[in-house]
Amino acid sequence: MAQWSSPRSRDGMEIKGKKVLVVGLGKSGLAAALFLRRQGAQVTVSDARSAEALAKEIPALIEEGIAVEAGGHGLLTFRRQDLIVVSPGVPVDTPELVQVRKFGLPIIGELELAAHYLRGKVLAITGSNGKTTTTALCGEILEAGKLPVQVGGNIGVPVIALVEGSREDGWSVLEVSSFQLETTCEFHPQIAVILNVTPDHLDRHGTFENYAAAKERIFARQTGDDALVLNADDEPSKRAAARTTARVYWFSRTRVIRQGAFIHEGVIHFRRSEQTSAEPVMRVEEIPLKGAHNVENVLAAVCAARLAGVDASAIRSAVMNFKAVEHRLEFVTTIDGVAYFNDSKATNVDASMKAVEAFPGGIHLILGGKDKNSDYRQMRALVQQRVKAVYTIGAAAEKIHTHLDGTVPIISAGTMEAAVARAGAAAQPGEIVLLAPACSSFDQFENYEHRGRVFKELVMARRGLAGLQADEETRRGSGTMATP
Ligand code: ADP
Repeated sequence: MAQWSSPRSRDGMEIKGKKVLVVGLGKSGLAAALFLRRQGAQVTVSDARSAEALAKEIPALIEEGIAVEAGGHGLLTFRRQDLIVVSPGVPVDTPELVQVRKFGLPIIGELELAAHYLRGKVLAITGSNGKTTTTALCGEILEAGKLPVQVGGNIGVPVIALVEGSREDGWSVLEVSSFQLETTCEFHPQIAVILNVTPDHLDRHGTFENYAAAKERIFARQTGDDALVLNADDEPSKRAAARTTARVYWFSRTRVIRQGAFIHEGVIHFRRSEQTSAEPVMRVEEIPLKGAHNVENVLAAVCAARLAGVDASAIRSAVMNFKAVEHRLEFVTTIDGVAYFNDSKATNVDASMKAVEAFPGGIHLILGGKDKNSDYRQMRALVQQRVKAVYTIGAAAEKIHTHLDGTVPIISAGTMEAAVARAGAAAQPGEIVLLAPACSSFDQFENYEHRGRVFKELVMARRGLAGLQADEETRRGSGTMATP
């Protein structure tokens, strides 16, 4: 990756008057274009979508004096620039980018751009799963600790949009994805967290090694003054320890740790160093979130927050008040004794397995969507132990069926509507209907949020129906429901 070193940002980088192309007009691309324009750059944005599809964004951009190239990328547009900023959704090896890289044009991402301007300290969180939950949690904990804090990145506000509000004595808590890290160079968090590294996005990164290497860029610029928080129970994370110069802190759900966060006799502890004694922070049972994976997220957050200077009592109260982020093992409702959970964000096999592990059994599991070159056979043993039936939806249905064949009944539901109807009809009181699809959503839905909302709406419609039926039965005097 070419170095980018024109003068005058926080570290002396100058944008004014430079020709900058922003590739990809997502949320972060849009924020980057506006930021660059405000810095006085000559900005062009280029997006593969048609002008009609971008009708909402284009007028505002033109008004700001930003040129727009819709419906594909012209190589000439790329070659005319001083700098190219790519959105995380755009693969770094598109033909145009490969070409211009040969000419030595600097190509960076929005996170890298922001890294040059952001004031104050950075707590950055990456991992295959748990980033949003842990980032939101860290944000709330730092706030409870009365530290000036802003939260962004993959979650909510793009990092570049945090620049304006950042201050030297404050913290930016950032959720960073492997896609964003791929294009970083100067990004330098004072505290970096890698929650776990499990196979995901192999369709984009090619190999697991590439994917792990992208995640490890989070600590590429760290020094001995910085902290790297790693999961002692996760083999790929452990390997990172040998490749960093930062001080390594561990978190573990299963063993006592010499430097970091761990559980002892049901209590989460933090130990700053081998020379200090472990301090109790909170009881595991006080965590309001479901699942062992969320205990790991809390351990990581405890470790990071203690390192940022928040005391144990503020951490405890922030964790106790924390609500599950929408679509992350989110409780929807109970209908006739059956509990419905929405984990639409479980877009890979590991997250889906973590969701299943959060319940002892009696699970009616909705799986499927767009396959990400995943191996669902890993789920076989767990499905056999805890799941009563699988309901498949979307394009991956057939593959899932083949991979899980012979474990439990597999019902080809096809659509979410059929899956909710059939799972709801089959589930007995005390059992669970769980959407944790292990796939991305793009074949049937706009994104995982849309998929989760559709699921919740179908469940709530079912509850309405169940309510109506119960009312009807009560009215006829044949109901089993107690009347007031
Ligand atoms: P991310 O932002 O990394 O996708 P989220 O917090 O949005 O992480 O959670 C994504 C999915 O992974 C959800 O299905 C959630 O229940 C599950 N999950 C959350 N934390 C973990 C973890 N530490 N390990 C495995 N799965 C997790």
